[in-house]
Amino acid sequence: MSSGERTRHNTFAATPLDRCGERRADPAWLSAQRAAASARFLACDAEGRAPVRNGRLYWLDGKALAPDAPANFLGQMHGVPLFALREPLAHDALSAVTWMDLRGAASVLERTEAGLFAYARGLANWQDATRHCAYCGAALALIDGGHRASCASCGRLHFPRTDAAIIVIVEHGDACLLGRQAIWKPKQYSTLAGFVEPGEALADAVRREVREETGVEVLDCDFHSSQPWPFPASLMLGFTATAARRDIRLADGELEDARWFTAWDIAAGLRDGSLRLSTPVSISWRLIEHWLRTRAGIELGRLPRAE
Ligand SMILES: [Zn+2]
Repeated sequence: MSSGERTRHNTFAATPLDRCGERRADPAWLSAQRAAASARFLACDAEGRAPVRNGRLYWLDGKALAPDAPANFLGQMHGVPLFALREPLAHDALSAVTWMDLRGAASVLERTEAGLFAYARGLANWQDATRHCAYCGAALALIDGGHRASCASCGRLHFPRTDAAIIVIVEHGDACLLGRQAIWKPKQYSTLAGFVEPGEALADAVRREVREETGVEVLDCDFHSSQPWPFPASLMLGFTATAARRDIRLADGELEDARWFTAWDIAAGLRDGSLRLSTPVSISWRLIEHWLRTRAGIELGRLPRAE
């Protein structure tokens, strides 16, 4: 299976949306999209939650909105223009909906809608954190349907920020390396992860993060798949890697514990409740699922789902 196919199975990834990136800079075209009778708008509340009804995102009709209500253009889905409102809606403006945050909605919505919500949230997170020009301090104006911020004072353009982070399942022989942070739920272990630093290639970030967190030397790594993770702005880049030895030395204080788990350890731990993994929505879960299936023929989805 290619990394592209694996990515398609990751939550928030591979939404079949045409972002119309080459057309959204045209204000006349964008206005026509906005005024189209078929256009649909996703609301948010002050905490970034979205309205959900019957397990689906609740999209508003343009007729219900002021024509100048600020909105980000997401793209076209099967020809339907989709927007996300920039200003929060009061809860009593909509009836019979449940307001859900992205983490909660991710395990409820079908995958395309979860991806659309993640996309809308990621863009909004960047806009919330980018109100002033980083060069001259003047207020910024959003253009291109919300995908660029322009400074009228110094003329610079600002682009949505995405923070690259590697996440890796390291193996040695019949075991894989998982760690836990002290602030996590009891018994929860996960694959190792960390942000890519400036001037660093992805494979170098994998080697550095694993060494810093556990003292384990990575011999080699392979790309597995990617996942947008807008909490608030990460792009997770998943890897599989092999280690030279099993010696663990917790060095940088990020992890409270790190251990080598055989496939049997993981299966037995989930069955008897002595182990918890990250949510199935996460790429960490996908990496562990991939490792268990390809190395031991164990289907993680059939094991008790301790999260
Ligand atoms: Zn400026």
